[in-house]
Amino acid sequence: MTVSVVLFTSDLRLRDHPPLSAAVAAGDYVVPLFVRDAAIAASGFAAPNREAFLRDCLADLDAGLRERGGRLVVRSGDVVDVVRGIAARARAEEVHVAAGVSGYAQARERRLVRALEADGRRLRVHDAVITAVAPGAVTPSGGSDHFAVFTPYFTRWSAERPRRPLRAPRAVRVPEGVPSGRIPRREAVRGVAEGLAGGGEKAGRALLLSWRRSGLADYAAHHDDLPGDATSRLSPHLHFGTLSPAELVHLAREKYGPGSDAFVRQLCWRDFHHQVLAARPEASAADYRERHDHWREGTSAARDIQAWKEGRTGYPVVDAAMRQLLHEGWMHNRGRLLVASFLTKTLYVDWRVGAQHFLEHLVDGDIANNQLNWQWVAGTGTDTRPNRVLNPVLQGRRYDPDGVYVRRWLPELAGLAGRRVHEPWKLGAAERAGYDYPEPIVGLGEGLARFKGARERGRERG
Ligand code: FAD
Repeated sequence: MTVSVVLFTSDLRLRDHPPLSAAVAAGDYVVPLFVRDAAIAASGFAAPNREAFLRDCLADLDAGLRERGGRLVVRSGDVVDVVRGIAARARAEEVHVAAGVSGYAQARERRLVRALEADGRRLRVHDAVITAVAPGAVTPSGGSDHFAVFTPYFTRWSAERPRRPLRAPRAVRVPEGVPSGRIPRREAVRGVAEGLAGGGEKAGRALLLSWRRSGLADYAAHHDDLPGDATSRLSPHLHFGTLSPAELVHLAREKYGPGSDAFVRQLCWRDFHHQVLAARPEASAADYRERHDHWREGTSAARDIQAWKEGRTGYPVVDAAMRQLLHEGWMHNRGRLLVASFLTKTLYVDWRVGAQHFLEHLVDGDIANNQLNWQWVAGTGTDTRPNRVLNPVLQGRRYDPDGVYVRRWLPELAGLAGRRVHEPWKLGAAERAGYDYPEPIVGLGEGLARFKGARERGRERG
């Protein structure tokens, strides 16, 4: 009898799952294992929205395994100790895991190799499970270990052919003597956003199906349209791995051809940020490109940060997006760009403050995508135009021309028709008095001048 352990991490699915397929093919028995990692819990990364979504994913994974004669084994604790103990108890020869990307995941992998080798066992690490193309699989000519600019990465990435998606195994046999453990209930999580989506592979596939039918064809034309909400909303499923990025790329290319290019490009952005993080794990907290910023601090900055978090900056499209985040645990990409530019450039507040707030609320909150998109917007990352500032009024008029998105999220402005909703400060005093909505916390010109001055001084310092 041969036994393998499959350690699930950010890949909570049965379809197109190379570690599980390899384990099933290699042996008679498989222990599908998820460890509620004490280090992640202690880091505060497990925010309520993601915790609730995760619980859905685990329950669904367990149900899918049970349909195949198996079950999910869930444990809490130090991931290496747990894997080691389970592997010993099940007399497993190998442990399969998806290659990790973040500094934490890379360190976990190194610790697992050492611990298992000491016990005479082997860790088998599978690439391109969490991303469509493995970090490091394509590198620039000239010897660098990663691409720092998106466009050349996209060209090389596009030439790669992800594997054909793997089917879910028909049967998974779990050895006796390894108790399942308990999957905690979603309902027990406190502080979950009212409009949070449900998790799990089944929910992900249902969403994918409906979006393929009704959204993919129009994606290129409408993905920036704030009120239209025309993006896939697959991001939490990609974050938890309930859908496979390689499968999505394959599906889009094979079934939809060039019509899906804009969508595939976004999936490439995801891989791009992951390959940056894999090569520079410290970029999760430190500037990828040093701009010698002295970000604002102190009482007035703290007041502005609070207004930004609550969606009360006085700039309607910024506030609408921030309220969407609080209500759904998710925000439209155009909104993320706008609010991040507003915080880091118009208010000149450290990107880490914004990234942390996003991680506390986003159901798709992801170290690679979140930290590196924040850095991209702040101009400390991979953007080739680091000092570009988005004007929230112009952006609002362009991406929410009739103000529908703003009125959806700001009930206090619901009575203000048309595009006037983007500049309530222009209303006459009498009309203005009818709306309980703040004055802008800063003038756009003032914010721009402060930012430009700060970056100028940073250049001199550099
Ligand atoms: P779609 O437009 O349907 O795109 C399909 C998929 O492509 C997404 O699900 C996502 O996985 C990927 N994708 C799209 N845009 C990007 C991008 N710019 N960078 C990386 N991948 C992308 N995305 C996260 O998944 N987690 C985060 O924590 C996160 N934080 C962000 C913070 C900021 C400041 C910004 C500007 C963007 C952030 N993004 C993040 C990227 C992007 O906003 C979301 O992936 C997207 O809005 C998710 O919606 P969707 O699934 O409908 O996307």
